[in-house]
Amino acid sequence: MELLKQRIRQDGTVKGTDVLKVDSFLNHQMDVALFEEIGKEFQRRFAGCGVNKILTIEASGIGIACVAAQSFRCPVVFAKKSQSKNIAGEVYTTKVESFTHGKVYDVIVSKKFLGPEDRVLIIDDFLANGAALEGLMDIVHQAGATLVGAGIVIEKAFQPGGDRIRARGVRVESLARIKSMSEENGVEFAED
Ligand code: 5GP
Repeated sequence: MELLKQRIRQDGTVKGTDVLKVDSFLNHQMDVALFEEIGKEFQRRFAGCGVNKILTIEASGIGIACVAAQSFRCPVVFAKKSQSKNIAGEVYTTKVESFTHGKVYDVIVSKKFLGPEDRVLIIDDFLANGAALEGLMDIVHQAGATLVGAGIVIEKAFQPGGDRIRARGVRVESLARIKSMSEENGVEFAED
């Protein structure tokens, strides 16, 4: 998605060897007009797949998932990090290792909001080692729901998550795939 790549080139900053900061439009301040284009692009790619639920993980996936859901006209469920008193009753639960903090935490989704009747599109901001996506895939599996695929805004293709998850037969659509990056030279995108 050219608009997104341009924005990453313009406003993204590389930290160390493997962290891309996009705080000015994606992860802290949010450019909702850009989110709208991202949502439409996910809808174009997954049109006709019968998506009736979008699943994401808090916190940074939620904004994108909500805007995308307006194109899909379906609800969004977000996996919560750790048990919350706000969710009553039974939950699906899985463990996710955080890329940014290195910690392993439990994520939960109420059984009320995901079940065998659902055709689920997972949406997230980044794909790196794949732990977040695999955790969400596990929850879809526990629910007996159908996984339509995953829509990712930025995939760091030099990290192993994307290849491993595609090898499991999951359709992963990433709108910008980074082949390599460094503080000196910025980002280089993979061919579409
Ligand atoms: P994974 O589980 O695939 O290793 O990492 C995915 C999660 O880590 C995403 O939900 C995202 O929040 C965070 N993440 C991974 N890499 C980056 C990065 O380069 N920049 C930012 N801002 N977040 C990242």
